[in-house]
Amino acid sequence: MLGLTDPGDNFIVAEDDDGAADSEPALPGQELVPFDPALPALHAYLGDCADLSDTYGACLEDGHECLLPVLSFTDLVVTPGCILPLLVCNSRAHWVLEQALSAAAPYTGLIAVVMKEECQTRQSGQRHVGCTACIKKLQRHDNGIWPATLKVLAEGCQRLEVVHPTTQLSWKVQICADAATPKLPREVQEGRAHWAVWAWRASDAWTLADDATQLFRELFPQVRVLRGDPAEVSYWMMRNIPLSAAKRQALLGAPTVVHRLRSICAILAAEAHGHLLCTVCRCQLGHNQDVLAVTHEGTGGLFVNSSGYVHDVVAIRHIEAEKVMLLGRPSQEHSWFPGYAWTIANCGACGSHLGWRFTALQQQLPRDFFGLRRQALTSIA
Ligand SMILES: [Zn+2]
Repeated sequence: MLGLTDPGDNFIVAEDDDGAADSEPALPGQELVPFDPALPALHAYLGDCADLSDTYGACLEDGHECLLPVLSFTDLVVTPGCILPLLVCNSRAHWVLEQALSAAAPYTGLIAVVMKEECQTRQSGQRHVGCTACIKKLQRHDNGIWPATLKVLAEGCQRLEVVHPTTQLSWKVQICADAATPKLPREVQEGRAHWAVWAWRASDAWTLADDATQLFRELFPQVRVLRGDPAEVSYWMMRNIPLSAAKRQALLGAPTVVHRLRSICAILAAEAHGHLLCTVCRCQLGHNQDVLAVTHEGTGGLFVNSSGYVHDVVAIRHIEAEKVMLLGRPSQEHSWFPGYAWTIANCGACGSHLGWRFTALQQQLPRDFFGLRRQALTSIA
């Protein structure tokens, strides 16, 4: 058993060999080293990017309306705190980023990230909600072809509501209020107030965040839950529960932190003893207990491939050999997890693309794990 250096969770090598390993276990007397979960967050596969953290990153006031350049995705939901890697060379995304980079303060480096309307299951009257993202790292890769390829790391900042979508590069948006949640007065917490305990528990964000944390721990014992303000906990949960993009978009659109946490608690309660299934054929791939923490963000994160497609990846400790079909030889090129080579992994039953198997290049590292596309997974209670 091997441990991650931090946040202290277990990155466990599968004890039963499924026959497809490409690296051998450590030799007798050779010390195994834990995988450093800080490495994937660096997105080193993008190369050297200039750090713009001190240049950009202004927070806009709640309710503020402005025009922001927009990137829209079919199956990605960006939340505050989420790291979004981008590799763009197509004209529209390129111009969106260039427009953000050349904008005047306080909008410099800010983009709006939304899910395409046709991919949402919003009910009538529900708001079209997205998130601002601020460019933190940038590299212009000029390979002699116009436009130059832009490699970017952006960070989700604030929820936004689309006020006026257009076909142009910029949309009018309004920043949603997401202020820190105050704790209940001590007399209420200690039961000395006039309200019944059940009455305030159901509407107290801090209590709901604790409830969600407890439920998450029971379902995903390998993963340490972020501690923080209820809003931060709710966004972390959205990024780490294996949910479809449509469900995460619905959670992002919840009107308050309390509404979002209530929904998260209901989802987690329904997922008790849940299985992870292939979205296409619903064959069982594993259990919730197989979900691993391999990054500082938790169970996975967003990663961009060499063609510019952004994948939302969740790490799974083990999949039985007959349930997955590996294609080709392991490759180190553009690997999202330093020290690991990737092999395409398809569903053994229906052949749909599940994700990748990552195998250690060094004998001292935990031997392997799977990084599955969140869209390829569904679950049942
Ligand atoms: Zn399948």
